[in-house]
Amino acid sequence: MTVVYKSDPVRGEVWREIFAREAPDLPFRIWPDIGDPQSVRYLVAWMPPPDLGALLPKLDVLFSAGAGVDQLDLASIPAHLPVVRMIEPGIVGGMVEFVAMAVLMLHRDIPAYVDQQRRAQWQPIRVWPAARRRVGVMGLGMLGRAAIAALAPFGFEIAGWSRSRHVIDGVTCHAGDAELDAFLARSEILVALMALTPETRGILDAKLFARLPRGASIVNVGRGGHLVEPDLLAALDGGQLSAAILDVMRTEPLPTDSPLWSHPRIMLTPHVASMTQPETAARAVIANIRRHRAGQPMDGLVDRARGY
Ligand code: NDP
Repeated sequence: MTVVYKSDPVRGEVWREIFAREAPDLPFRIWPDIGDPQSVRYLVAWMPPPDLGALLPKLDVLFSAGAGVDQLDLASIPAHLPVVRMIEPGIVGGMVEFVAMAVLMLHRDIPAYVDQQRRAQWQPIRVWPAARRRVGVMGLGMLGRAAIAALAPFGFEIAGWSRSRHVIDGVTCHAGDAELDAFLARSEILVALMALTPETRGILDAKLFARLPRGASIVNVGRGGHLVEPDLLAALDGGQLSAAILDVMRTEPLPTDSPLWSHPRIMLTPHVASMTQPETAARAVIANIRRHRAGQPMDGLVDRARGY
């Protein structure tokens, strides 16, 4: 029985060390040095090899090296094979920091001040208390809920939106298409943190921006595929939106000629809101392998019909 890791090889060495120290009973190898393909039972990969079923016929579980699974072509992965996304505290911690930072930056008009500084302009903008600022979080999964918990102590008025109904203390939770309008109409800072599926692809478009209060701002930390970039530029230029903080882009790396780079009210980062931390991720996968071997449910099992 072998565990194979196929992702960044430098981080793979950290995984190797942790497996050797904490799970010596689970032989661990780094792609492409997989040994006997017949003995590979667990694969940790961001991008699995295309001919997975033929290449690793005895595979028991495919672990995604990241929190999302939208990079996988689920249709090409053998139907019987469980797919598990990465649930580990390092990803959560990074995302919580990034969302708190981005919401505070928008709340305190930092994109406007960065622009003013470039033009040597001294122009104070009224400071509103957090209790007067309405934040909306789209996606109430592991990360959306953790981000809300970090924002709540500032006193923001927070609402959330997701596919199914959630109940979160102190947060007005909306669910499904029927309640999207009410959620958007009150969201002055919109944080997008959904899974990318055929239903959510392109959801951040002109129609959605028009339903936000005028001058709203957005944070996109889910996936670039959620955002229709030309619609964002038009909404910023027309004043419907005042600023955007983007961590994920439709095409990554963002092409050098993209107008997003130089827009005065866009701040962007290269998909770094959070990263799988090898130390905690290796431990999370070891725990899941142990659950699988004991016949217990694994943490982060993907519902393939739902797509996340
Ligand atoms: P979860 O699977 O726990 O949550 C996904 C959320 O999306 C759920 O609340 C789900 O609703 C919601 N959702 C899915 N489809 C719809 C829909 N059609 N309508 C409304 N809501 C929908 O994922 P995580 O919270 O762990 O992660 C969220 C995303 O963050 C990941 O999929 C990934 O793309 C992104 N990410 C980005 C990173 C970065 O560095 N920028 C790092 C890590 C993750 P429901 O609760 O009802 O199921």
